[in-house]
Amino acid sequence: MKRRDLIKALTVTPVAGAAFLGDITNAEAAPKQAPKRDYFAELGVRTFINAAGTYTAMTATLMRPETMEAIRAASQQFCMLDDLQDKVGERIAAITHAEAAVVTSGAFAGLTLGLAGILTGKDPQKIRSLPHLEGTGMKSEVICQKSHAIGYNQALTNTGCKIIMIETVEELKNAINSNTASMHFLHANADSGKIMHEEWVAIAKQNGIPTSIDIAADVPPVSNLWRFNDMGFDMVVISGGKALRGPQSAGILMGKKDIIAGARLSMPPRGETIGRGMKVNKEEILGMLVALEEFIKIDHDAMAKQYEQKINQIKAAVDSVKGFKTSVSTPKLANVTPTLRITWDSSIVKMDGDQMKLELRNGKPSIEVVGGKDNLGITAWCLKEGEEKIVAKRMKEVCQKAVS
Ligand SMILES: *Cc1c(COP(=O)(O)O)cnc(C)c1O
Repeated sequence: MKRRDLIKALTVTPVAGAAFLGDITNAEAAPKQAPKRDYFAELGVRTFINAAGTYTAMTATLMRPETMEAIRAASQQFCMLDDLQDKVGERIAAITHAEAAVVTSGAFAGLTLGLAGILTGKDPQKIRSLPHLEGTGMKSEVICQKSHAIGYNQALTNTGCKIIMIETVEELKNAINSNTASMHFLHANADSGKIMHEEWVAIAKQNGIPTSIDIAADVPPVSNLWRFNDMGFDMVVISGGKALRGPQSAGILMGKKDIIAGARLSMPPRGETIGRGMKVNKEEILGMLVALEEFIKIDHDAMAKQYEQKINQIKAAVDSVKGFKTSVSTPKLANVTPTLRITWDSSIVKMDGDQMKLELRNGKPSIEVVGGKDNLGITAWCLKEGEEKIVAKRMKEVCQKAVS
């Protein structure tokens, strides 16, 4: 039976055909305009004004309409996963001055997969072996400065490698041996280590060792997208779902062609790999590209000024209540956005930071800020239009309540 006839036959036998028809027309069915649902309310999940920042626990970011349109459009077509990664990777690489790039399920996955690529190259046996390195001929050590050793480095040890911690150049040179797989750098903590980027890369190159850098939360400035590729790092990872405002479960791994090619052999659609569970769907791959394209179009100076104005509005509201101290500063390396820090004189202010956070959370609308018992932190980069006014008003009310 021809397909058209089959559909016809099925439509005239509604009972038996109904379910089956749904199946075979799955790709063609025009989506009906469903009545608008308030999904969060329906589920009883609290939503809030995010005056905290791009925190994973708070779902980090809101995607731009252009990104959502890319996601919607992608959801209407089939394509080969590898074809899409090839083409999107080329575009991302061109933007970021990298030889190659691939969309991963976040910066964390990018670290695991990039290191996997370094360890295995294109050897199928090695790819299947990960994370078991012993007896495979793969290297097994990643060198990292002590002050760069954060929890996210678990992404590196997921490959089976261990982290060798060093502090000085001398210790670094002594640590390098025939088992050294890579040298890892954390941009956010660059200032607290003894060895800076250029020297790190130079020493690695002298010893023929690949370098990686984690810049997950480190745009703006927009130039950080290419700065570390230009500097000579062999692989760079960045989060898609922080300031880039891409899909929260996407990120970018970029760098040398061979490393990206190796990493992709540990990624879906290939199974029997360490990365099979780190899947990125076509919607997110395309969404990631469009988010990046939109991000580089933005006037970042104007944006920074806007954030500062909003933060200053909130600061003024807090300053109007006696007993509170405020300061605004912009971190130099990571999460580069004007950040309001609030402290207080506890002889005047009767609530602690946790109680104030609870007041904000339980208010209407609910507001999230960060901080602990003795300070609060507020940023404006996750605020929607006009929300700074609501945050300012609520901060003033909560501060007044805390001193009354
Ligand atoms: C957020 C973050 C990560 C994890 O990034 P994902 O994109 O969520 O996987 C890794 N490293 C640092 C320094 C981060 O800030």
